[in-house]
Amino acid sequence: MKLNELTIKQAREGLDKKEFTSVELTQACLDVIKKKNKKLNAVLTVCEEEALAEARKADERIKNNAISGLTGIPYLAKDNYLTRGVRTTAASKILENYIAPYDATVIKKLREAGAVLLGKTNLDEFAHGSSTENSAFGPTKNPHNITRVPGGSSGGSAAAVAANLCMFALGSDTGGSIRHPAAFCGVVGLKPTYGRASRFGIVAMTSSTDVPGPIAKTIADAAIVQAVISGSDQNDFTTADVPVSDYAKEIKNNIKGLKIGVPHEFFLEGMNIEVETKVKEAIESLKKQGAKIINISLPHTKYALPVYYIITSSEVSSNLGRHDGIRYGLSEQGSAKSLKEIYFKTRGKGFGSESKRRIMLGTYALSAGYYDAYYLQAQKVRTIIIEEFEAAFKEVDAIITPTTPDIAFKFGANQDPLKMYLEDIFTLSPSLAGLPAISVPCGKVDNMPVGCQIIGQKFAEGMVMRVADKISN
Ligand code: GLN
Repeated sequence: MKLNELTIKQAREGLDKKEFTSVELTQACLDVIKKKNKKLNAVLTVCEEEALAEARKADERIKNNAISGLTGIPYLAKDNYLTRGVRTTAASKILENYIAPYDATVIKKLREAGAVLLGKTNLDEFAHGSSTENSAFGPTKNPHNITRVPGGSSGGSAAAVAANLCMFALGSDTGGSIRHPAAFCGVVGLKPTYGRASRFGIVAMTSSTDVPGPIAKTIADAAIVQAVISGSDQNDFTTADVPVSDYAKEIKNNIKGLKIGVPHEFFLEGMNIEVETKVKEAIESLKKQGAKIINISLPHTKYALPVYYIITSSEVSSNLGRHDGIRYGLSEQGSAKSLKEIYFKTRGKGFGSESKRRIMLGTYALSAGYYDAYYLQAQKVRTIIIEEFEAAFKEVDAIITPTTPDIAFKFGANQDPLKMYLEDIFTLSPSLAGLPAISVPCGKVDNMPVGCQIIGQKFAEGMVMRVADKISN
């Protein structure tokens, strides 16, 4: 096996036994990025020198036995994580040359653990989308078939892990952006509980649902990364001071007697029937391993899509207000004659069409006269969705659903924005409820990966990974 193809666990063993160094491991990843990225466009920025310097430091640490699970392990971060000294674009022209003066908390934690940042991955601009076609720097290709999208918005991270450009990658998930591309690329993607890990230093999209999380080759690897990035943060008051359980140990437990809920609302008419079959086979295998399968109902799931898009657009319109051509990023000050003209010119030139669409939608939904009818109403239905999950979790330990209604689609197939929004139909409701959810590969249809989603109660990351671990691909 080539070094870049190793899982975190395998790489850890090799590093600890001194079979190879972190510099060699890092170089192997840098080489394969050079070779494959022209075709895939998964990575927007490579920080070769910084990576090799960090790898050398990690090798020193390993020599001195000052090791954590991730010391010397090379990874990539979605380009909406602020990284000190390495540009952060959020795949937008408006931040094309932006270099952050500090690290996101999660990046800082990984740095302290000795993980090696290789570079930054492509995404839909500001994480708006489900295909990574919305990037200002061109789309990412799916490594399983380059005529198809990798999913989104963390498409660069998922494609990079699937193509073995790194040991793991960070994604961010607001309505499905870790799970969706993980399903399309055949890798593991964990969206932790809202508040489980810090959002500080991640370019804000929808502050009430954004979460950082790992995209990895295996569940065990996702568990290692999640354990490092979890925890409360003084810089993000929405993080919770809940102890982090021993995920690595928890996932090894069997699932005998666990109650797994299957909500019929997630098996829709019109979805790819072969995808449905793969998910049903996964459910069957859980049953064989001793889990009790229980049919449940989450009737307000059908409102998750309109609720999410009203809330998300509202928060996006507010969060993107900071990109004004004055504070940082692109500025059209030179040619403008007034402050208003600076705003118009900078924002007109800097934002792509999907960001503009969301700013307009959100501004409308929050306007006096419309606020009650749209935003407030959406928040009320969101509360019902949360309560429905709470009621379901009185009966079951975890819920299983498909991650997406179909396999990865071809480029350009979802040009109608509403069609694109439907991609997240199964991932939105756990996001609205702030629950942990994971996508794990469960087979292939037409040679393309299929993912199934396990949803758990708040802070039950260990449980969702434990169940997901029992699904074989
Ligand atoms: N596809 C969804 C959207 O476009 C979710 C994006 C995300 O999770 N960042 O809003």
